[in-house]
Amino acid sequence: MSRKRKRLPKSEPASLRPKFWERVPLDQMTEAEWEALCDGCGRCCLLKLEDAETEEIAFTRVSCRLLDTETCRCGNYAIRKQLVPDCVVLTPKNIDDIGYWMPATCAYRVLHEGRPLYDWHPLISGRAESVQEAGVSVAGWVVPEFEVDEDDLEDYLIEPYGG
Ligand code: SF4
Ligand code: SF4
Repeated sequence: MSRKRKRLPKSEPASLRPKFWERVPLDQMTEAEWEALCDGCGRCCLLKLEDAETEEIAFTRVSCRLLDTETCRCGNYAIRKQLVPDCVVLTPKNIDDIGYWMPATCAYRVLHEGRPLYDWHPLISGRAESVQEAGVSVAGWVVPEFEVDEDDLEDYLIEPYGG
């Protein structure tokens, strides 16, 4: 007796349900699906300044000391919270409260706000390089925080990523 098995598209590992980002709510995604949402842009790892009165968020081009500024990957993702205590770990539970801290292009914020993923997102394009080609990645043009005096952060403000 033979048994039929459904074949998944090659671009979607078996642990990811097909087009899960279009049909599975954030709080019902598997850990693998949640992690796959991250486009690796590195924008969330830039230091931000918050206006004390308006709560407006301004991004700088100064990166967290743990960010690899060439690959845009966290230098130690597994224990990042121990190494950088103020690293914000986004979860389905806290996205209501802190989603606004994320860049407007961030896939988690995009889906949370009911918007579709951008065409350049690797889940749509099928290519990790599309993030850099679209000018969304911070790779190669940011300054590590250990090279900048905290009092000078305002000199490094960039076009708003929030919104
Ligand atoms: S901004 Fe969002 S999509 Fe980009 S690296 Fe951070 S968590 Fe991932
Ligand atoms: S600790 Fe890692 S994930 Fe957190 S802000 Fe720094 S580089 Fe990004």
